[in-house]
Amino acid sequence: MTTPSLPFDLKPSAQPVSDADREAALADPGFGRHFTDHMVTIRWTEGRGWHDARLQPYAPLSMDPASMVLHYSQEIFEGLKAYRQADGTVAVFRPEANGERFQRSARRMAMPELPVETFVEAIDVLVRQDEAWVPSGGEQTLYLRPFMFASEVGLGINRPANEYTFMVIASPAGAYFPRGIKPVSVWLSKDYVRAAPGGTGEAKTGGNYAGAFLAQAEATRNGCDQVVWLDAVERRWVEEMGGMNLYFVRGEGEDAEIVTPQLTGTLLPGITRDSLLRIASDLGHTTGEVKISTDDWRQGSADGTISEVFACGTAAVITPVGSVRSAEGDWTVGDGQPGPITQRLRAELLGIQTGQRPDPYGWMHRIR
Ligand SMILES: *Cc1c(COP(=O)(O)O)cnc(C)c1O
Repeated sequence: MTTPSLPFDLKPSAQPVSDADREAALADPGFGRHFTDHMVTIRWTEGRGWHDARLQPYAPLSMDPASMVLHYSQEIFEGLKAYRQADGTVAVFRPEANGERFQRSARRMAMPELPVETFVEAIDVLVRQDEAWVPSGGEQTLYLRPFMFASEVGLGINRPANEYTFMVIASPAGAYFPRGIKPVSVWLSKDYVRAAPGGTGEAKTGGNYAGAFLAQAEATRNGCDQVVWLDAVERRWVEEMGGMNLYFVRGEGEDAEIVTPQLTGTLLPGITRDSLLRIASDLGHTTGEVKISTDDWRQGSADGTISEVFACGTAAVITPVGSVRSAEGDWTVGDGQPGPITQRLRAELLGIQTGQRPDPYGWMHRIR
């Protein structure tokens, strides 16, 4: 049986941004600075379930100061992108996978699960309405931000909220590397941890980010671009980097082995990470989900067995890691430049996303 999908009430804006202003925003979108003309909201209340799905003009929310999210952080989010295809149409990368992860995040945070079909339809409704905001060419995209928060009013703390708001907003995003791919430097965080066993590390929830800013500031103070998180118990197993997953390349050429830290429950299961496991394997590489320690990383970089390291996530797709700093010393990865396998995987994935290469996995979801 298929679930009947929620009827969306479409209330398009009477005053959308002018063509000239939109074109100006699209000429230099940056990231997360401009927002499209519309947003989607869906409500959930106990007893009634999901209802009141609507597309309406983008506007500030009016909130009661006692809304539970403002006090107890019951909030989850997603990030995915709509790409202008080579043929001029628009397609979204793996929205069903984001919808499934959104359900898993909701479960962990004791929030209601939005059906995946409704999640995808909310994206369809918004992107269809604001299609003119999808940039074309040059790795520019429309970044989509679905999120949900506890909107019940009250300060009681012994149970989850009984009222939630789901929303989708959209923001044009420029190329992550407008002047060519530049490797990042990373700081290994020993004093702070992002997630502990049994905690919320696997859920895409805002609180994981709130707890990470101080470590990111420490990385910046040490002259690094990004923080790399280690496991909470032994502080030696590499987990992930900021908001991206990590990959290690062992060896070189066609025989190179491509591995990523295994999902132990404390790192975020990235959809880019998952996609690259498939692509790398189909390119003939041996792939693996492994445990890799900071010592393995340092020794492998020194003796050359680790030839490349890169991070991956929706925003940047793939970012090479050029150098590492830690309390126990600094080292360079490979020659510190983007490696050939990193660049190959980036081209393959972006090729599928932009419609310049075939999509054998059925990952691109067309907006009609
Ligand atoms: C979203 C996110 C990622 C990357 O996930 P993608 O689905 O590839 O964008 C990695 N780590 C963290 C902490 C994240 O929040």
